[in-house]
Amino acid sequence: MKPSITQFELEKLVRPNILELTPYRCARDDYEEGVLLDANENALGSNIDDPDSLHRYPDPHQQKLRKALATFREVSTENVFVGNGSDEAIDLLIRIFCRPGVDRIIITPPTYGMYKVAASIQDCGIISVPLTPDFDLKPDQILEQASEKSKLLFLCSPNNPTANELSFNKIENLIHFFAGIVVLDEAYIDFSSRKSLAGRIAEFPNLVILQTLSKSFGLAGLRLGIAIASAGIIRLMMSVKAPYNINKLTLRAAEEAVGNTDLMQKHVDELLVERARLRSALANIPSVEKIFPSDANFLLLRVPDALSVYRRLAEQGIIVRYRGDQIHCENCLRITVGTRTENDLLINQLTSLLP
Ligand code: PMP
Repeated sequence: MKPSITQFELEKLVRPNILELTPYRCARDDYEEGVLLDANENALGSNIDDPDSLHRYPDPHQQKLRKALATFREVSTENVFVGNGSDEAIDLLIRIFCRPGVDRIIITPPTYGMYKVAASIQDCGIISVPLTPDFDLKPDQILEQASEKSKLLFLCSPNNPTANELSFNKIENLIHFFAGIVVLDEAYIDFSSRKSLAGRIAEFPNLVILQTLSKSFGLAGLRLGIAIASAGIIRLMMSVKAPYNINKLTLRAAEEAVGNTDLMQKHVDELLVERARLRSALANIPSVEKIFPSDANFLLLRVPDALSVYRRLAEQGIIVRYRGDQIHCENCLRITVGTRTENDLLINQLTSLLP
């Protein structure tokens, strides 16, 4: 089979109305400084203590943050999009490539639920090609199911809720042979020993990498998601997004976060130590049937009667996620690695709940 990547033409995949779109031009597109009488802002200022000059609109191009992220992930600014969480990037990609009622996405359950929700909102079909029972890809089945209407293939590695990295060779193989866009969600990449594929986007014009400040950077409340892809794909995302999609407070905090990756790495290292400690403590509970390998900041484990364990933990004030309703995840709980104290509480409760 000939690799599709060698014949890749972005324009053939994009919805025609998006290709023809004249993006909204906002007042701040051309000039950011001077006597600013161009945007109908309130020149007197806001009515709160406001060190961020919130009476002025934020940079619609997010140049400073995108440059900092580009340096951090070793790509160029033109390869970086920032959105209101990765969820915004997922939604935009579906809107850019999938014609409602016509096109489809391919997902590989069990996986992150938002791909399906965003596709359903766009009235876009969903082809599910489940992972193997040990949570790896089935590339042949994915390629068999693919057609010219399956525009996007969502892969998540490390995968949520299964916690593992998908086989690198299989991901690479799919990037070469899938005839649409491969969206690789790397939300948990900093917890993995594997390097991000972001540095290889020049080689892979059909690859979009999703990342987020919600996990390793500890900024879930900020809502800052990242897409890394060819300049052509990023241009499309920039022209479809809402003009001022990232507010000034988020920009400032995100710029500060990306400038302090040492502390991020320290937190990651600490969580990895806790992940190992939690794993061995849970493995000592005789009725824990299986703890799956983890490359993320959570563990997936199988216990008898997981739904009732989930409820009884909640009654004790410990909230985990029941994932037993997902394919290959019967009786599984997904547990985020917490602080040392939180993990000890969980271990004690589970030890007393489980036989
Ligand atoms: N991708 C995956 C795989 C996730 O697990 C999550 C959040 N749980 C997200 C994306 C969403 O990230 P964000 O907070 O940036 O919207």
